[in-house]
Amino acid sequence: MNNAKLWILAEQFEGEILKVSYELLGRAKDLSKKKNCQVAAVIFGANLGDAELQKLIDRGADFVLAIEAPELKHFDNEAYSRCMLGMIDKYEPEIIIAAATSTGRTLMPYVAMTAHTGLTADCTVLDIDEEGKLLQTRPAIGGNIMATIRTQGFMPQMATVRPHSSKPAAPVEGRVGEIVRVDGNDFDLSSNIKRKELVLSSEELQLQEADKVVIVGRGIKRAENIKLIRELCDLLGAALGATRDVVDRGWLSYPHQVGLSGKTINPKLCVSIGVSGAIQQLAGMQTAENIIAINKDPEAQIFKVADIGMVGDLFEIVPVLIAKLKNGESL
Ligand SMILES: Cc1cc2nc3c(=O)[nH]c(=O)nc-3n(C[C@H](O)[C@H](O)[C@H](O)COP(=O)(O)OP(=O)(O)OC[C@H]3O[C@@H](n4cnc5c(N)ncnc54)[C@H](O)[C@@H]3O)c2cc1C
Repeated sequence: MNNAKLWILAEQFEGEILKVSYELLGRAKDLSKKKNCQVAAVIFGANLGDAELQKLIDRGADFVLAIEAPELKHFDNEAYSRCMLGMIDKYEPEIIIAAATSTGRTLMPYVAMTAHTGLTADCTVLDIDEEGKLLQTRPAIGGNIMATIRTQGFMPQMATVRPHSSKPAAPVEGRVGEIVRVDGNDFDLSSNIKRKELVLSSEELQLQEADKVVIVGRGIKRAENIKLIRELCDLLGAALGATRDVVDRGWLSYPHQVGLSGKTINPKLCVSIGVSGAIQQLAGMQTAENIIAINKDPEAQIFKVADIGMVGDLFEIVPVLIAKLKNGESL
């Protein structure tokens, strides 16, 4: 573990590694090459299977630091942070990156504050400079500039990155690494947090995992018209996203919001309807593989990122698309 200067925080649910962990390993691969160091994936849980942990090694971890106890099965900030701080003291990593999930967003600031170091949240780009320091880039001032931050003189250098803002590392079968199991009971696992029940929001889950997403903007004009877009979503098998304007007006709920202050998505297909393409909105969807945009304004910014642009009234275009899909044609 001594040369594992770069750590990622892997996440699991019910013992299964979450995809976001592989996205972090994708980033770690490039960074570790530049830093000339090994990568450790830190993961919390209870009785994690070897085969599941091996998946982290297959995707680039040289070490898996599995901290386990029944109390660590689900995220608990108090217990997780004590373990994490203990491991930082022992192994002295230089860089720790986590996903900006609710776990990463809660644990990382607490650990950074207690370890007396800095943290840059919601980075979009990470790099290593000539001194081996982490360059942490994120949108600032309402998304109008990109700021690059260096943690001067404090260790570890810590950052969170938005889920779905990079591609997961591909597995390399038979890759060799070491699983280091740590008994969580070596740490104080007491907590004031009591877990009562877990209620998953299905729509929220769908949006970030979906291969196809339709994003609706203010051009839809009123809440009742969203049923037209839902019909298109059903026929396409797509999840429904929205701009902040649509959410602010109460036409759809916040879990649908895509963008700087909402979710980042990278589906195979993103259909953008009545969306102007403001920089803060594009920040959440511009990594989609294929973008189709429908807007009546030929000058709309959304057309700058679109692979296919349709200039016209959405209330004329969308019913035609719906009719074609009903006829068994594809987009
Ligand atoms: C700090 C900060 C964070 C932000 N975070 C986010 C974020 O996370 N997500 C986000 O979306 N925004 C965010 N915003 C807001 C963002 O700047 C824009 O205001 C917002 O994205 C605009 O939403 P819109 O495209 O729905 O509306 P508009 O900009 O009003 O665009 C509506 C579009 O619909 C088109 N249109 C109108 N009628 C029709 C029709 N009949 N047929 C076809 N097209 C039509 C118009 O030509 C227009 O281009 C943020 C802003 C700030 C300052």
